[in-house]
Amino acid sequence: MADEKEQLRYDPAAIEQKWQQRWAADPKLYAAEPATSNKPKYYVLEMLPYPSGQLHMGHVRNYAIGDALARQMWMRGYNVLHPMGWDAFGLPAENAALKNNPPPREWTLANIAAMKRQFERLGMGFDWATEVTTCMPDYYRWNQWFFLRMYEKDLAYRKKSKVNWCPECATVLANEQVVDGCCWRHEDTKVEQRDLVQWFLRITAYAQELLDDLDKLDGWPEKVRTMQRNWIGRSEGTEVDFFLEEINQGSGIRDLGSEKQGTKQTRIRVFTTRVDTIFGATSVQLAPEHPLVKVFTAEDAGLKAKVEELLAQQKAAREAGDLGAIDKHGVVTGRFAMNPYNGERVPIWVANYILMDYGTGAIMSVPAHDERDYEFAMKYGIEIRQVIKPVQDDNEAKLPFISEDGVLVNSGEYDGLTCAQAQMKLQEVATRGEFGEAKVIFRLKDWGVSRQRYWGTPIPMIHCERDGLVPVPDDQLPVLLPDKIEITQQGGSPLARVPEFVNTTCPKCGGPAKRETDTMDTFVDSSWYFYRYTDAHNAKAPFDPEIVKYWFPIDQYIGGVEHAILHLIYSRFWTKVMRDLGLVKNDEPVERLFTQGMVIKDGAKMSKSKGNVVSPDDMVARYGADSARMYSLFAAPPDRDLDWQEDGVAGVSRFLGRVWRIVTKYSAAPQSDVLGETGANTNKGAPLLRKLHQTIAKITQDFEARWHFNTDVAAIMELVNEIQNADAQFAAGEIPAPVVRELLRTLVLLLAPFAPFLAAEMWEQLGEEGAILRTPWPQSDPELAREDEIEIPVQINGKLVTVVRVAAGADAKVMEAEALANEKVRDRTAGRNVAKVIVVPGRAVNLVVK
Ligand SMILES: [Zn+2]
Ligand SMILES: [Zn+2]
Repeated sequence: MADEKEQLRYDPAAIEQKWQQRWAADPKLYAAEPATSNKPKYYVLEMLPYPSGQLHMGHVRNYAIGDALARQMWMRGYNVLHPMGWDAFGLPAENAALKNNPPPREWTLANIAAMKRQFERLGMGFDWATEVTTCMPDYYRWNQWFFLRMYEKDLAYRKKSKVNWCPECATVLANEQVVDGCCWRHEDTKVEQRDLVQWFLRITAYAQELLDDLDKLDGWPEKVRTMQRNWIGRSEGTEVDFFLEEINQGSGIRDLGSEKQGTKQTRIRVFTTRVDTIFGATSVQLAPEHPLVKVFTAEDAGLKAKVEELLAQQKAAREAGDLGAIDKHGVVTGRFAMNPYNGERVPIWVANYILMDYGTGAIMSVPAHDERDYEFAMKYGIEIRQVIKPVQDDNEAKLPFISEDGVLVNSGEYDGLTCAQAQMKLQEVATRGEFGEAKVIFRLKDWGVSRQRYWGTPIPMIHCERDGLVPVPDDQLPVLLPDKIEITQQGGSPLARVPEFVNTTCPKCGGPAKRETDTMDTFVDSSWYFYRYTDAHNAKAPFDPEIVKYWFPIDQYIGGVEHAILHLIYSRFWTKVMRDLGLVKNDEPVERLFTQGMVIKDGAKMSKSKGNVVSPDDMVARYGADSARMYSLFAAPPDRDLDWQEDGVAGVSRFLGRVWRIVTKYSAAPQSDVLGETGANTNKGAPLLRKLHQTIAKITQDFEARWHFNTDVAAIMELVNEIQNADAQFAAGEIPAPVVRELLRTLVLLLAPFAPFLAAEMWEQLGEEGAILRTPWPQSDPELAREDEIEIPVQINGKLVTVVRVAAGADAKVMEAEALANEKVRDRTAGRNVAKVIVVPGRAVNLVVK
């Protein structure tokens, strides 16, 4: 007995080691067929990790989802591409080097090797032949190549600008990398503003298309599309010139009304989304950094001091990441501007909530019809003049009245127009009078890609004293990162302190020149890596367009929602640029996007600082990789947060142990084929077959739509329960052999996407040949899956007449119809009046007949 028990013990360590070795020896196992394959393609991809050296549970979850999908698609006969790589540039490698660890390159490659071992131990089905490591020259040379193509098309440019600076990273951050005023990597470090000359990629050239194409991405979560829409932030409106009232020395204020044309009158261009309210404009407000403000303050020290105060407030609010909530302050300049529509003089203010880098850096203030302007006017006693009234209502509107459902009043010849009519009309007038135009503005800013760090792609530009900026010629790519470098946290780029790197020859004049020492934002690396997977060893081009054409767009992309703005907007931009370079045909990189929830423990996201990290290695050592993977799919729907409970992993491990014992026991037990052939006992197997085919149908549907893998695992558990409950029948040989075989075989096939090691082992034990991965996914037979029928007695006036059969769960209407259609019932009721039908669902039908 002890022997039998020992024999029936599920030993994941032994099983998983055995299969890990076999799979490692068979690199073709997870390889995709070439792009010439006539199978339908399926490109499933999980976001590539940063090689920190350790997978965490969030990774395990992310990859368990993708791997389950890949395996199921392989079984469904698709040509599956399921690659993996490393987002290998970035700051942690430099920080590690600062602490006297190995140089960034060594550190990174060692981490990659360690994580690759973890992936293999977890049994992830990646095709390592297409592995992409972004810090290797064979990859980043193409970053440089793309950068040069963008430079040629004026999509890469250099300008001095206000940038976000993280003192902890000692580098610039993109707007997308500032979260609540802090660094995305250093949640407690306030981001500062600095003026620096930086490289930018002109993502704004694609703003409208990035916005429009979101409508096509119906395979993306709505929340991600909304986040991108808001980030792009399109506003339609009008730019209008107010005319600065010049101050004529000696003669006071000139009348400007008569000499609009032909003079070089200074104009203050404002942007407004509500030009229909312009007759209610009672001031013009400038950003503290507006160029005119400098002119005003040059003559007025008092004003200058006040403006500096406003600027400081703005800067503080910007750094706090909370511009929207800024305490609004302003100062009146004593200058006036003229409304071009009616010649009215309005005072010019400087206000701390007007930003120089949004719109034109100047607004018209209409307190009666704008919340913010109203608040400001109340505070400073500026006139509030209503110029829109509600359409329906003659009563006075409560101010501020911000609805556009209104008509104009106090607006001269435009009175009576609706807001929409007035907007069109006033735009026309501005265009004709050359003092304004319709305008669309975006919140999206160009992507600042310069980083003053070492461990990134060198920007392939050269500074020559004679020729200025000179691009590195293609045949001199890649510009290699020097290997030996001293990393310090001094300001400026570490590359600037490597003379062998900096000093070069100008490709144009052959004279001495200096290399650009900034490196690229690592989000450049991840903007196109998934194209490289399809043709990872191409030495002549980033990829072969024909191969990309076969594989793209990605059928299913899986990753965290934290990338909704950064990576997912940059990679959409990159795809559109590549399309315009003629390299790809697709407009969008990703057809369907899935964002999985976080893994949390004790109420918080797992993190070192909170000390609640669960190590995948630990879980695998204790319970096996199958249990860790399956638990991460079972414990919550994939799109929700998962609250990690070790008990749960233990529970899944026990369940897999039961599966193992059942398959081992019944596959070995003698079965009566004779019974099966005569069909004498088929009824005994029918309920199990029904459950089996219902389970197949449910899981198959789920893979196609909802991805509720947690309920799929639960359904497999139910199936296993039913098989166990039939133990006595199995023992008595009452279940026909073909039924036993189908049950066990299909159970193992259903488990294959979720617990690949155990499934492979069971498959072999059942005497099946070939990789389970290449075995067709089971088909549900609707006949077998159909629920049982039940017998319903039918009574007429209290007397049992007959019994009808209906499907279990049939509703009252169906039962009634079935009863009335029955021949015996029709005989007895012929020529009589059925006064009443009483249906007891699932039980009986009673007819009252007169
Ligand atoms: Zn930082
Ligand atoms: Zn030169």
